[in-house]
Amino acid sequence: MGLRATRAEINLSLFKQNIQIFQNKLGSERKICLAVKGNAYGHGLIPMSHVAQNLVDMLAVATVDEGVQLRESGIICPILLLSIHTREEIPSIVSYHLTPLISHDYFLEDYQYWAYHFQCSLAIHIKVDTGMGRAGFFIEEVLPVIKKIQQCPNLLLEGIATHFAVAGDGLDGQTFTEQQIHLFSQLINSLKSQQINIPYIHAANGAGILHYPSSYFTMGRFGIGAYGYEDYSGLKPVLALKTKISIIKTIKKGNSVSYGCTWKAPNDTQIGILPIGYADGYFRNLSNKGKVLINDTFYSVVGRVCMDQMMIAIPKLPNALGKDVLLYGDHPNLNAHTIAELSGTISYEVLTAIAARVPRKYI
Ligand SMILES: *Cc1c(COP(=O)(O)O)cnc(C)c1O
Repeated sequence: MGLRATRAEINLSLFKQNIQIFQNKLGSERKICLAVKGNAYGHGLIPMSHVAQNLVDMLAVATVDEGVQLRESGIICPILLLSIHTREEIPSIVSYHLTPLISHDYFLEDYQYWAYHFQCSLAIHIKVDTGMGRAGFFIEEVLPVIKKIQQCPNLLLEGIATHFAVAGDGLDGQTFTEQQIHLFSQLINSLKSQQINIPYIHAANGAGILHYPSSYFTMGRFGIGAYGYEDYSGLKPVLALKTKISIIKTIKKGNSVSYGCTWKAPNDTQIGILPIGYADGYFRNLSNKGKVLINDTFYSVVGRVCMDQMMIAIPKLPNALGKDVLLYGDHPNLNAHTIAELSGTISYEVLTAIAARVPRKYI
């Protein structure tokens, strides 16, 4: 494993610097929670979590399996379980000390049963829907669920959170986000006035931390910015997807390249074949559209991107065989964000699409 020409190079010092930028923004008195769901946004769940656990207070995963993998790899910091789980997964949640972020009260008795069974206490965070319109208790449902949790001797109400719908959408999202912050603050103040003091109060995602200081409360949760993709000075893309030119050939004028014959050589053209395709996470809709970088020059993707191979036109590139090719990375015009714009998605999807079969190299 790891000798393929195609690989994702991950720069751990940039990752640490990016995390530091978020900690500086929040201030040292606040806690930070790093999202490592989705295979650490494609960067590799376990290696990234081991680097991060010394820099953050909490890691956040989406699935129970991700949390279990982290524990089995030796991670001991708190792990917040952001997404929905089944009743069958509760024994694992309790025995691996994962912290569920709950949006309904269906499982409180099961949590209590299993926490008692394992003779431990289970920390719980409550999620509040202040406008996201996804999971989360409505504001008026919060106090009743707190009362129920308080009746369970093995459950500990450790946190309360909300999630922003449009914090990364610039001024368009400002009024809406401020309204979400306002509703959440009101709720927190009303709980405090009833002597309900919850240590972890968190609302801000990465965009919230960078743009809304009033959203800080006692902890920030961020993901994409740590991997370098928020529009903020100093943040740098951590991952570079690379390969090498593995075959060169010349396509005669008028002949075509790849499935569907969608590209025809305007002149005799030197072509490079790259051992990467959509099964590695390079989107097929970049066919005849994508650009790659070799040394400091851009070259075009020609013909359809296949499952395991793709072609680039490299007219006049001497000694092309074996040359290193950047698919995207820390480059102002060729990064996961520019790739996302070109293929009609967002950097999150570009990064999480990098397949398991692509070896990750940590540098
Ligand atoms: C993924 C996630 C985050 C991190 O969001 P970014 O936009 O990557 O900073 C924060 N909170 C919740 C609930 C999430 O699911």
